[in-house]
Formats: sequence, C-alpha cells, structure tokens
Amino acid sequence: MNPLLEAHGHTSNNRLELEASKLCGCCSCIQIFPPRDIVAWTGLDMSNFDNPDTASAETALCPRCGSEALIGDGSGYSINPDFLTRMNQAWFQKTRLIRRPETKA
Ligand SMILES: [Zn+2]
Repeated sequence: MNPLLEAHGHTSNNRLELEASKLCGCCSCIQIFPPRDIVAWTGLDMSNFDNPDTASAETALCPRCGSEALIGDGSGYSINPDFLTRMNQAWFQKTRLIRRPETKA
C-alpha cells in the first residue's frame, strides 16, 4: 500500500492523536500549526461511517481552510511542507479513485 495513502487514514477520527501531537498540518492547504489552533471537529462522515471505531471518534477540521485533512506528528509521521505536499497529491488521487458520494442537495 502507498504509505501516503496509509498516512491518509490519520486525517480522520484523529482527535486523540492530534491532541497528543505538538504540530499538525493540513494536506489540503499545506499549513502547519499547533493542534490547539484547531477550533472545530466533525463526527461521522461519508469517509468513515463503515469504520467500527467511529462511535466516539471525531475528525479535526482545518482552521485555515475547513478541510478534514489534518495529520499530527503523533501519527509517527513528521509534519513538514514536503510531506504535506505529497499527501496533498495522494489525497486528490484517492478522492478521484474512490469517488466519494456527493452530499445530498
Ligand atoms: Zn487546510
């Protein structure tokens, strides 16, 4: 498996992991900031609802761009612009591959 896609799993249901991180970054806007800057979290969404661990899980929303695309250094990955840029590419690749369902209008 592409390690970047594996790292991608850390961008959802990541509240505990982010709270244990010193730095986190956004794969969408490539910003890096401390997890205390995160102001919003979301619950279950399309990408995680078949995951049995989501009952109490929450996903961070990027305070800069609003994407559910944050990963913290608590994941074991080092957070830097190069990594985030590669994650960004993997992110869009994956989005195209799995074709996320459209939100109901
Ligand atoms: Zn962002």
